[in-house]
Amino acid sequence: NVRVRFCPSPTGTPHVGMIRTALFNWAEARATGGKLIFRIEDTDAVRDSEESYNQILESLRWLGIDWDEGIDVGGPHGPYRQSERTAIYKDVAAKLLEAGYAYESFSTPEEIKERNLAAGRPEAFGYDGYDRNLTEEQKAAFRAEGRKPALRLKMPDEDIAFEDLIRGTIEFKAGSVPDYVIVRPNGDPLYTLTNPVDDAMMEINVVLRGEDLLSSTPRQIVLYRYLMELGIAKEMPLFGHMPYVMGQGNKKLSKRDPESNLFNHRDNGFIREGLLNYLALLGWSIAPDNDVFSMDEMIAAFDVRDVKANPARFDLDKAISINAEHIRMLEPADFLARSVPYLFRDGVVSADSWDALTDREREILNASAELVQPRVRLLGEVSGMVGSLLSTEGYIEPEADARKTLKDSAADVLDKAIATLEGVDEAAGAWKAEPLHELLNVALIEEGGYKPRLAFGPVRVAVSGRRVSPPLFESMEILGKEITIARLKGLRE
Ligand code: GLU
Repeated sequence: NVRVRFCPSPTGTPHVGMIRTALFNWAEARATGGKLIFRIEDTDAVRDSEESYNQILESLRWLGIDWDEGIDVGGPHGPYRQSERTAIYKDVAAKLLEAGYAYESFSTPEEIKERNLAAGRPEAFGYDGYDRNLTEEQKAAFRAEGRKPALRLKMPDEDIAFEDLIRGTIEFKAGSVPDYVIVRPNGDPLYTLTNPVDDAMMEINVVLRGEDLLSSTPRQIVLYRYLMELGIAKEMPLFGHMPYVMGQGNKKLSKRDPESNLFNHRDNGFIREGLLNYLALLGWSIAPDNDVFSMDEMIAAFDVRDVKANPARFDLDKAISINAEHIRMLEPADFLARSVPYLFRDGVVSADSWDALTDREREILNASAELVQPRVRLLGEVSGMVGSLLSTEGYIEPEADARKTLKDSAADVLDKAIATLEGVDEAAGAWKAEPLHELLNVALIEEGGYKPRLAFGPVRVAVSGRRVSPPLFESMEILGKEITIARLKGLRE
C-alpha cells in the first residue's frame, strides 16, 4: 500500500516546482490506490509564515489536489505540522545519542575551517569528524567554556547506494558525506532530522521529490537505518527524484521568477484543468502524440517509473495553448461562471458571481459565450472580448492602435454602413448576424467597391473600439440596432 507525502516548507508564494511535486505525489497515490499525506515542515521560525501556509492550502484546494491524512483532515500520525512535534524530535534525538548513532559536536564553523586549512584539505571538504571521539573530560572542558553542542549523525565509512525510481542506481562514495548536524546547539531540530523522522513515523514508503534534494538522500538513508535499529522506522522508503524545471535561458526556474508564481497563472486566467495538465508534462507524458488530458486520464496512466530524469522546460506559450484547449472543453455555463470573477476584477460587470449579475449582463454573456469561448486562451482575455458588448455606452473611444488602422475612406464606409443599417427592421426580426453581414457585403463591397478589410475594419473599430474583437456581425446582433448605429455615428464624428 503506497504512502506518499507532500511536505512543503511554508516560505513564500506557492510556485510551479512545489505544485508539480504535490501533483505527482497525488497522482502516485491515486494511481496506486494509496494514500497522500500532507504535512507542513515549519521548523524555520525565521523564514516560515502563516501567510505562506494559507496560500499553500488555498492553491491545493483551488487545483483540487486532495489528501487522505494530514493538515485539516487529521489522521493517526498527527500532529501534521512540524512546529507541533518538537517533543517527538527531542525524544528521537536523545535515543540516537544514547545509542551512539549521533554525538555531541562542539566545533565552531571557524574551527572546522582552520583545521581543514591546516591539513591542506579544500574548504568545501566540510566537517572533519573531529568531535566523534571526544572524551568526557574534553566535553566537560568545552561546557566549562560555555559552549553548547550541536548533535551530529555518524556517517558510516562505506559507499551508500540506492535505486532511484526515476534515475536508477545512485551511489555516494564512502567519505563523501560528512557527519551532519541534526540538532542545533540551541536545541532546534533541523530538517535533516525532522523530515526522515516524520516520514518514518508516518509510514511513508515512497519519497517523491525534487532533484535538488538528491544530495540529502544518502544522509537520510543512514538515519533511516538507525531509526530501523531503534524500532522507530519499519522499512526503508523508495526514493524518486523528479527533474529540475528550467525557465528562460535554460536556467533553473527560480521561486522568485514571476513565471513560477502559481497565483500569477491563476490571475492571468489559467483554469485548474489547464494548469494541472501542463504541470503534469514537466517530467512526464501520457503519450508521444497527445499533450492534452484530464486528471482522470493522468491517474489512469501514471506510473512514477515513467517520469523522466532529464530537466523539464517550463514553456509558458505551450502552457497557455493547453489551457485554451481546456477552456474550449468547458460547458458554456461553467465557462461563464468561471469568467465572472475576472470580468468583475476588470470592471466589466457589476458583481463577482454569476447569480449576482444583472439580467442584462447575464443575457449578453449567454449570447456571447459561443463567440468568446473558442477565442480565448486565458480567462483574463474574456474581459477584452466582452467588454464592448456589455458596455451600455453608444460610442466607445477606440484603442490607439485600432484608430491607427483607419484609412481616409473610413468616413465614407461608415456613412454607407449607417445608411444601410438604418433601413433594417429590427422589430420584424431582421437584426440578425447573417442578414446584416449580407447587407453590408452588398453595400460596401459589391456596390461600394471596397476590399473586405477596408470595408469592415472601420465598422469593427466603431462597434467594439478594438482591432481584435468577437465576430463583428454576431456582436452587432447582440448589441442591437440602436447601440450599433450610435457607435458607428460616434466614430464618424
Ligand atoms: N520541506 C522540504 C522542502 O520543502 C521537503 C523536502 C522533501 O520532500 O523531502 O523542500
